[in-house]
Amino acid sequence: MTKETVYDVAIIGAGTMGMAAGAFLAQQKVKTLLIDAFDPPHTKGSHHGDTRLIRHAYGEGRQYVTLVKRAQQLWEDLEKQTGYKIFEKTGVLGLGPEDSPFLQETIAAAEKYDLPLEILKGKEIKERWPGFSVPDHFIGCFEAGSGIIYSETAIQAYKETAVKNGADLVINTPVRHIDMNGENGVKISTENSTFYAKKIIVTAGAWAAKLLPDLNLPIQPTRKAVGWFESPSGLYDAANFPAFFIEDNNKKAYGFPSLKGSGIKIGKSDGGQAIDPNLHTQDFGLYETDEGDLRHFLETYMPGANGTLKEGKTCLYTNSSDQDFIVDFHPEHSHVIFACGFSGHGFKFGSVMGEVLSQMALEGQSQFDISIFSLKRFDCDRK
Ligand SMILES: Cc1cc2nc3c(=O)[nH]c(=O)nc-3n(C[C@H](O)[C@H](O)[C@H](O)COP(=O)(O)OP(=O)(O)OC[C@H]3O[C@@H](n4cnc5c(N)ncnc54)[C@H](O)[C@@H]3O)c2cc1C
Repeated sequence: MTKETVYDVAIIGAGTMGMAAGAFLAQQKVKTLLIDAFDPPHTKGSHHGDTRLIRHAYGEGRQYVTLVKRAQQLWEDLEKQTGYKIFEKTGVLGLGPEDSPFLQETIAAAEKYDLPLEILKGKEIKERWPGFSVPDHFIGCFEAGSGIIYSETAIQAYKETAVKNGADLVINTPVRHIDMNGENGVKISTENSTFYAKKIIVTAGAWAAKLLPDLNLPIQPTRKAVGWFESPSGLYDAANFPAFFIEDNNKKAYGFPSLKGSGIKIGKSDGGQAIDPNLHTQDFGLYETDEGDLRHFLETYMPGANGTLKEGKTCLYTNSSDQDFIVDFHPEHSHVIFACGFSGHGFKFGSVMGEVLSQMALEGQSQFDISIFSLKRFDCDRK
């Protein structure tokens, strides 16, 4: 491609959301450019660490259920199309006090959308999965049809789909500036090159606010720690143990069974350190709480899995101020679309977000109601 090529759509940030959008567009023979600061899938943003939960009865809000059902279908389609193992049906068990608002919303979402969800008492949980130790006043919400998405594999699968269908992928090339009023559409500048596109989709994760400074996006990149812990074989293996999340008063954790001897993986969904993504050094153990907070959950709820730390990693959440996603057209430039603020629960939607973003670029709207993700809901003080 020469510098004069004008792409139909350029995607800035080819991670979770961007790579999927690129695949959907390229499959429709749209002249697509994918450009990334690194070589996705990679370990610098929000998508590494092997696994992500997918839940359908959605505790963050029943308004996400239609999207997550479509996402599940699209992940399974991607698995069939590419032959990669992307989804692991381990089931997901949510644990917490009966009055936990998150569990109550999970139950309400299941009822509204007629999703299969088993409600278990504390004693029943311990009998069924002896690896858990839970207080009697806890309940469990078990969704047998949900489970785990292999995150890096999923991005690899979309990457191959995009490239196979003709998308141009430019890697290790950070975009420095976007000129939305360029003569040939949008002018995208990197250190050594310039690209042009009629429309752009900005899916830059933790860097979104740096690329769209005029929008004053209400998002905060946040450093998060996850650890893999030695756990006895049998009790915590995926064949006998589900993926899980725990609501412990205001502390929240999520985790995964041992997959092929990986050990239990656990992370904390709340907390973390607000950071500048350019200064993120991926230093698990920098804070005592990196390991300490995770051990608190293991000691309390899975004492048998509280073994040696096998591995620790850090990763980035991009929290919006209300924890809901931000997906919209630029208020002054309808040919500029952006999706960010996935607030630590976006991966499962990566497939459907790819579809949504491709529809926004091609048709000016999505078949799904994404008005809940509108930028207008915030009172942003525009620069
Ligand atoms: C520890 C952890 C656990 C999580 N667990 C879950 C879970 O269980 N379930 C779930 O659904 N979600 C989970 N999430 C959230 C989910 O992973 C994220 O919401 C999702 O990956 C965000 O996707 P994204 O496309 O916005 O970001 P990314 O996947 O990070 O993509 C952004 C891309 O933009 C690129 N980029 C940035 N700046 C530039 C630039 N200037 N020029 C070019 N490219 C640029 C980056 O290199 C990157 O590749 C978790 C996240 C973390 C960190």
